[in-house]
Amino acid sequence: MIVDTHVHLDDPRYTKDLEEVLRRSVEAGVTQWIIPGADPGTLERAVEIAEAHEGCYFAVGVHPYDARNYDRKLLERYIGHEKCVAVGECGLDYYRLLESEEEIVEEKRIQKEVFVDQIALAKEYDKPLIVHIREASRDSQELLESYAGKRGGVLHCYNADHQLLQMAERGFYYGIGGVLTFKNARKLVEVYPRIPRERLLIETDAPYLTPHPFRGQRNEPAYCRIIAEKMAELSGLSFEELTGICRENTRRLFGI
Ligand SMILES: [Zn+2]
Repeated sequence: MIVDTHVHLDDPRYTKDLEEVLRRSVEAGVTQWIIPGADPGTLERAVEIAEAHEGCYFAVGVHPYDARNYDRKLLERYIGHEKCVAVGECGLDYYRLLESEEEIVEEKRIQKEVFVDQIALAKEYDKPLIVHIREASRDSQELLESYAGKRGGVLHCYNADHQLLQMAERGFYYGIGGVLTFKNARKLVEVYPRIPRERLLIETDAPYLTPHPFRGQRNEPAYCRIIAEKMAELSGLSFEELTGICRENTRRLFGI
């Protein structure tokens, strides 16, 4: 049994055929899902989906791209829900290019402020964090080291680097997704064997980051299988061993 620990089922791209997507997922052995909070506008939809499906859970959080729409009160309204398992995805993303130096400084300031507040929220309610990091490894690590509690969390690892490996010692897990199957994923393939096995989690980040050979199409939780196959191959484990380890890791971190 596989858990897709990061899948945006509340994305409008699934509105029409969500039940079909979940059916295909279950058929592929992917029977539980965690919907991370990203756009505050679809949080209620995520709660609704989690309430309607036994294997479905959600997290409350605001993606760095939506940092300007951050509203702690909205997150607090749902954080005590029995199906809320984490805070996130929150973090830093410096990929988006901005016009001027002042705008970049201001964007970084807002992202950091909103990230730190969500780290505090997780600590306050004793929830693990789901962390999004893109081209901001050093700053993210600094903030996590300064503010995160013992509960740790998972790093959304699509541009994993050696810097972030240090976080394994601080209770952090690594979400491995479709990027691992990309032909040009040299960096992640290189870092992957150095991630301790007891820190690996499987995630699709669907509808984004569709694994090979379906790249370019909408991603689906069923494709966790393709990711797990690649992980097993690179770990020198059988598919059953690898998915068993990840299942146990998921239970340890999220309590599901
Ligand atoms: Zn995501």
